Amino acid sequence: MPQRSRRLPRVARPDRIAAEYLAALRSALRPLLDLLKEFVQEAESEWPKPEADNVRTDNDRDVARLVKRTADKLARAVRAESITPIATKYAAATSDFQRAQLAKQARAAVGVDVRKLTGIDRAVPAQLEQFSKVNAQLITGLGARLAEDIAEIVEDATVSGSRWETVAKRLAHTGLVTESRAALIARDQVGKLFGDINKQRQANLGVTRYVWRTVRDNRVREEHEALDGDSIAWDSPPAEGHPGDAVNCRCYADPDFSDLLG
Ligand SMILES: [Zn+2]
Repeated sequence: MPQRSRRLPRVARPDRIAAEYLAALRSALRPLLDLLKEFVQEAESEWPKPEADNVRTDNDRDVARLVKRTADKLARAVRAESITPIATKYAAATSDFQRAQLAKQARAAVGVDVRKLTGIDRAVPAQLEQFSKVNAQLITGLGARLAEDIAEIVEDATVSGSRWETVAKRLAHTGLVTESRAALIARDQVGKLFGDINKQRQANLGVTRYVWRTVRDNRVREEHEALDGDSIAWDSPPAEGHPGDAVNCRCYADPDFSDLLG
């Protein structure tokens, strides 16, 4: 076990990048919310009226057709081609930000400007590319998920004979759910990328161990709280994974430079 080294300058979290990424995604997701609004308007006029039992079946069929048509539109509304450039931009921002954080720590610990070292970015471009690909999939997938939400609400309502007002309220809520899914993706993905790049760049520097750090607020998971301050080998992650692996984990890995100082 290496002896406890001097505490490094605190790493800043890429929260601002995640927030800007989300704002950019929100505009890209606008078509989904517009389609939802359009669906709500059309479904209201088709919705079976309680006093008109005789037309109920026809109306049900019309609503079902409308759900299907909307699902087709939702699945195509947000295209990967429009998400990839956004994801690529914020992946690069996360990478630059992480490099600056690591440089700050290395300067304090070993007095070296790691930004000037060749090889510091080895394998990082592949991580950025993977981020863009995965994020484009996750974000374009929000259309299909919204379509599923709509279909489920309409089906439940048809079975139970719900009044339109109830259905409208539930449908409106799916817009908020879609937005919070996007928020989770943006936060979680940027945090994960930050952790992954941190890991890769430490490996590029020859760092084999890190110290687990939490952000020390009351939202830190208990399991991660327990790891705070522990020295961990990069090739032997705890059951929890490395910092940032768990959903929305905001912990980070302080490089242990003692090997390099040896
Ligand atoms: Zn954590």
